[in-house]
Amino acid sequence: MTTATRAGAGDGFRGMNLSAALLAALQRANYHHPTPIQAALIPEALAGRDVIGQAQTGTGKTAAFLVPFLNTWNDEEGPGPQALVLTPTRELAVQVGEEARKLRPTERCRPVPIYGGQEFRPQLAELKKGCHIAIGTPGRVLDHLARGTLTLDRVRYVVLDEADRMLDIGFRPDIEKILRHCPRQRQTLLLSATLPPPVLRLAERYMTEPLHINLSPKTATVESIRQTYISVDEDKKFDLLMRVIDREQPRQCIIFCQRKRTANDLFCSLRRERQRVAVMHGDLPQSLRNQIMRVFRDGRIVYLVATDLVGRGIDVTGISHIINYDLPEDPENYVHRIGRTGRMGANGVAIAFVTPEQGKELTQIEMFINKQLEEDRIEGFQACTPRSRREQTPPEPKPYVPIFGRRVRRISMRL
Ligand code: AMP
Repeated sequence: MTTATRAGAGDGFRGMNLSAALLAALQRANYHHPTPIQAALIPEALAGRDVIGQAQTGTGKTAAFLVPFLNTWNDEEGPGPQALVLTPTRELAVQVGEEARKLRPTERCRPVPIYGGQEFRPQLAELKKGCHIAIGTPGRVLDHLARGTLTLDRVRYVVLDEADRMLDIGFRPDIEKILRHCPRQRQTLLLSATLPPPVLRLAERYMTEPLHINLSPKTATVESIRQTYISVDEDKKFDLLMRVIDREQPRQCIIFCQRKRTANDLFCSLRRERQRVAVMHGDLPQSLRNQIMRVFRDGRIVYLVATDLVGRGIDVTGISHIINYDLPEDPENYVHRIGRTGRMGANGVAIAFVTPEQGKELTQIEMFINKQLEEDRIEGFQACTPRSRREQTPPEPKPYVPIFGRRVRRISMRL
C-alpha cells in the first residue's frame, strides 16, 4: 500500500478535468472549492486507483467518492448499477443518495438508495426505472441479490463508506458476500474517519495496491468543538439537562443515550418541558425515521434524543450542541457522536454527563481522542460520591492497548 499524507487544493474542481455538466452541478451545489480530502482523493480516483481515504467526519468525504464516479458515469452501459456504495446505516444511505442526486451531472443518472425497514415494492419500482448507483445497507442489498432483483455484474466502482464499521466483525461476512457478486475488475474506495491498523490490513484484501490518503489530524476530534464534561449523579441527569439547555440555548442539539429505553423515557420527559423534541432509535419504523431526519434537517426539530444510530456520518449543518447524556460504551463512538457538530469548520459544543462511577470510561475516551476534557460546572450539579474525578489519583501514563481487541494505538497521556 502506498501512503499519501497531504495534498493541496491545486486549481480546484476546474483543474480536475471534470465534465462541464459535473462542474455545473458542483456550482449549483455551491461547492466552489474542493475540501482537502476532495482535492487529494478525486484526482487519484479519477486516475482509476483504489483509494483509502481517511479524514475527519464532516469534511466532504461523500462528494470525494461520488465525484470520480459521476464524472465517468455513462448511460450506455446497459442495465444494472455501475457503482455500489455500502453504508452501515439506513440514514446514511438516504443521505448519500441525496448528495448523489444533488451532484449528478444529469437527471438521467439515477442513484437509488436500498435499505431495510422499507417495503420491497417501492425499491423494486425504483430499481426497475433504472439504477446507476445503488446505495445500500448490506442486509437489504443481500436480500435483493437473493431475490434476483439486483445484479452487480456491471459494477465497476465500489465504495465502502464508514469502512471501519463496515469491516467490523458484525458486517464483514455480508460485505464479503456482496463483494463476491461484484466483478473482480473494479475500482474500490474506502472512506472512514478512523481506520485502526487491523481494519486497514483487512481492507487491503478487497483492494488492488490502494493508495492511503490520511488527512486525519493527530487528535481524532475537530478542534473547533468545545468539549467538556459535567459530573452528575445518575438520578440528577434530567435536571442537569434542563439547566444545560437553559444555559446553552442550542440552535439544534442531539442528546445521545446508550439505550433505546433511556432514549424513549428521556424523550417523554423532555417533551413535557420543551417543544420541537423528537426521538430516534432503531425500533422506530423506517418511514418515521426518515420523516424525523427530514424535519431535523429542516430545523423544525431542536432537540433530538437519539441512540448511536445517528452517531455516524449524518450531516445536519444546524447542530450546535451534542450532549452525551450517557457516555458511549465504545470510546470510538464518542468521536462519531460529537462529529455531528463542528461540521465543515463550524463551531460546536459537546458536553458529556459523567457519573462518579464513570471516571475510567471518561479516561478511556480522553486517551482515545488524545485530549483531556475540561470540567464544566453548573451550580448544584457537582456529583458528590465518591470523590470528584480530578481529585482521584491520575492513572499512570501508559501505552494505549487495544480495547475490545481492535485498536492498536500508542498515545501518551497529558494528565
Ligand atoms: P460530508 O463529510 O460528505 O458529510 O460533507 C459535509 C458537508 O459539507 C455537507 O453538508 C456537504 O454538502 C458539504 N460539502 C461537501 N463538499 C463541499 C465543498 N467542496 N464545498 C462546500 N461544501 C461542501
